Amino acid sequence: EPTTAVASRAGNAEQFARAQRSIPGGVNSPVRAFRSVGGTPRFLVSAQGPYVTDSEGTEYVDLVSSWGPAILGHAHPEVVAAVQDAASRGLSFGATTPAETDLAELVRARVVAGGVHPVEKVRLVSTGTEATMTAIRLARGFTGRDLLIKFAGHYHGHSDSLLAEAGSGLATLALPASAGVPAATAALTIVLPYNDLGAVRKVFAERGNDIAAIIVEAAPANMGVVPPGAGFNAALADIAHAHGSLLVVDEVLTGFRVGPAGWWGLENSGSPVAELHLDAPGPVDVPAYLPDLVTFGKVVGGGMPLAALGGRADVMDTLAPLGPVYQAGTLSGNPIAVAAGLTTLRLADAGVYAALDATAATISSAVSDALGGAGVAHSVQRAGNLFSFTFGSSRAPRNYAEVQAQEAFRYGPFFHAMLDAGVSLPPSVYEAWFVSAAHDDEAIGRILAALPRAAEAAATA
Ligand code: PMP
Repeated sequence: EPTTAVASRAGNAEQFARAQRSIPGGVNSPVRAFRSVGGTPRFLVSAQGPYVTDSEGTEYVDLVSSWGPAILGHAHPEVVAAVQDAASRGLSFGATTPAETDLAELVRARVVAGGVHPVEKVRLVSTGTEATMTAIRLARGFTGRDLLIKFAGHYHGHSDSLLAEAGSGLATLALPASAGVPAATAALTIVLPYNDLGAVRKVFAERGNDIAAIIVEAAPANMGVVPPGAGFNAALADIAHAHGSLLVVDEVLTGFRVGPAGWWGLENSGSPVAELHLDAPGPVDVPAYLPDLVTFGKVVGGGMPLAALGGRADVMDTLAPLGPVYQAGTLSGNPIAVAAGLTTLRLADAGVYAALDATAATISSAVSDALGGAGVAHSVQRAGNLFSFTFGSSRAPRNYAEVQAQEAFRYGPFFHAMLDAGVSLPPSVYEAWFVSAAHDDEAIGRILAALPRAAEAAATA
């Protein structure tokens, strides 16, 4: 049994106080500070399989999974061995290595549907932010156009162009979403409501010849999970291509997590998961759409700092040194990170994805049952094995405004009741829950046992 959270709080509180003296907010990425759920962040010291352990020795079933990478569970022995082996041969060379080509080949080979491989060339970078930043620079350089379309509530990392948000009443002029982003940069990004093809068509009718690209989360999971309507991504491809613009599909979060070929693979392979969660029109032989560029992160690095962009060879070959679009990185293709990513992808077979799907189904329906039992109106949002919940209404939100209309205040008490019972959920209602193939019956049992009290806490919030 996990030790009580009361005991753990003292130690974590001391850690947090100390961290705040040396690190802004005590954290190196804002969501870790528990701002939206309140309370004291847990300071983790180790992780194994489905569990994480804090500095007090309290163990939690982990449903954060490092925000996505840990599909095999934490510290999988084969991944750790591969990392140790690579480390013993040197930490970083700043020169090209055979393993980078192995990983590029594996990414190319895995992203396939109907025999079509949309990822023809791959470049390795270190973070998802770099992957999307490079993808949009590449789209701009390739098309010779400056405007970019993104969707409200979609997160693509924190580069200036992508930290833009819709201004109130001004559908076509975005504002900086962060201090420090120049208004002139944000104004080159047009932010549209998600799942609204009419809005996309209208902007393209007006400015289509100036638009370099649409960037879209393959299945959005950074405003909670909000799956695309059936055919939405395919329509984006059609609209973009009709105007000489590119479609950049951001699979940093979904890539190699929701299925072996990511969300694009699910949407285009007619797999049962796609049918179940997408309302998709059955098996398809030929992909319904082709992205021009795809970004990857998280799983592709197996828990190490590694991300990638890939896509059409003619577009990718516009990157330096072949073409005029500049991109570089001291640690790009780092040998330790490549070893972790390669080993993780090689181990992520059909059995792993079946386990992820089954665990996601079990947990999401158990949460829904518990919330329903406690009389909490809610919606279960699912996209493949990614899921999240919105509170206050049983109507499924289809865009950011609808997600924001929920009773978010119910999540903090729910989150803390789970944490007190030894289950670590994402510390924000606007995040997806991440399962791993290591979540066995015991770990799932702990989650299920904790749910009734947490649902009660949400009900009385
Ligand atoms: N794109 C998406 C869809 C993401 O979910 C994230 C990270 N959550 C990013 C880009 C940015 O990746 P990173 O945090 O590695 O910079």
